[in-house]
Amino acid sequence: MVANQAMNSNNENGENTDVLDSTRTIVKGALDKLGYPDEVYELLKEPLRMMTVRIPVRMDDGTMKVFTGYRAQHNDAVGPTKGGVRFHPNVTEKEVKALSIWMSLKAGIVDLPYGGGKGGIICDPREMSFRELEGLSRGYVRAISQIVGPTKDIPAPDVFTNSQIMAWMMDEYSRIDEYNSPGFITGKPIVLGGSNGRESATAKGVTICIHEACKKRDINIEGAKVIVQGFGNAGSFLAKFLHDAGAVVVGISDAYGALYDADGLDIDYLLDRRDSFGTITKLFDETISNKELLEMDCDILIPAAVENQITVENADKIKASIVVEAANGPTTMEATKILTKRDILLVPDVLASAGGVTVSYFEWVQNNQGYYWPEQEINEKLHNVMIKAFENVYHIAETRQVDMRLAAYMVGVRKMSEASRFRGWV
Ligand code: NAD
Repeated sequence: MVANQAMNSNNENGENTDVLDSTRTIVKGALDKLGYPDEVYELLKEPLRMMTVRIPVRMDDGTMKVFTGYRAQHNDAVGPTKGGVRFHPNVTEKEVKALSIWMSLKAGIVDLPYGGGKGGIICDPREMSFRELEGLSRGYVRAISQIVGPTKDIPAPDVFTNSQIMAWMMDEYSRIDEYNSPGFITGKPIVLGGSNGRESATAKGVTICIHEACKKRDINIEGAKVIVQGFGNAGSFLAKFLHDAGAVVVGISDAYGALYDADGLDIDYLLDRRDSFGTITKLFDETISNKELLEMDCDILIPAAVENQITVENADKIKASIVVEAANGPTTMEATKILTKRDILLVPDVLASAGGVTVSYFEWVQNNQGYYWPEQEINEKLHNVMIKAFENVYHIAETRQVDMRLAAYMVGVRKMSEASRFRGWV
């Protein structure tokens, strides 16, 4: 999925949707609120390391195609950097940089011993064969092998990458390093050292945040009307978990449109019929647009697809009283202000979607110790981490009278700022 074209420019409403600019603005705001000097911002506004690589791949038709890839390592004061690799035609250097900063923030919010990293390759995996994808995945690892590793920087899946791609990457790294190295990457298949519960971890974390947000707003999840935008890895698990918790999922969508039924959708049927890219609406004649879906009646709205979906244009028309961002960057800065002013509880992406990196951390710990935990233990640990993080952010928002996004950034920047200070970097 993802990586929206409008990501690095102004949108039609004149809002700055440049993800790096907006991330930096909020990081600066958080550091100012915490009273850190400007030199801390100077350190954190860019990744410490950014590598651009060119990856030649022999395509099935015999031609050689050279792909461009990136790996950003934002700040490793706390520990090794960690973050996904996305395969998408709209990947840019700027986006990868911004996403690496977000990963640092997420790690800080859920208190993991990591800094943030991110990778991306400009490609369209939907148009590539299995063999070509394997060549690209292995070529990327060869190209970045000097700066990554279990104690340096640990990749993971992201947009359009999956456990098979992680398996190829782990195998390539193990060959280069000449020993079996499961801790090099997370999101692997279980038989290669993947963790129980990893696949659905992001959605589980979002679900925990939804439950906590509902408590704050006195909403009973049973019977609550929910709209989930996006039906990929995050969105489909979310729809399922919320449906199983008794919520009425009234709307879902994919890149081609949306389905809405005020009486609730048949989630199990939709899950059964969706394809591996999270496409489902093509099977239906009566669809509405994604734009229309966001403004439909519901109690809880969960953007779980792409960036910049809630803007100044529609923030006033959102009916939900809780918005939980499963996607990265679905709400613009201006729209955040409007939602906050309307007293809509906005649970920001860096908090809501931190369940994925949390279970990735559990996977890495299990790989390092060579001892594996059952899913129930993973879920309990995840639950504890997410509740603590939610409460922490909510408390800061209340006591410091700031919106939840700024509160989350304040929690997120603190640990790496302190660690950088102790190391003598600032
Ligand atoms: P995915 O590729 O599995 O699914 C994306 C879904 O969004 C698909 O249903 C796709 O059809 C839909 N989509 C694509 N373009 C769209 C558009 N313009 N409008 C509406 N829908 C569109 O991706 P995912 O892993 O589910 O990730 C979704 C979001 O959650 C992303 O922002 C991602 O960064 C974020 N996220 C995911 C994880 C994870 O573990 N999967 C972790 C953290 C954050």
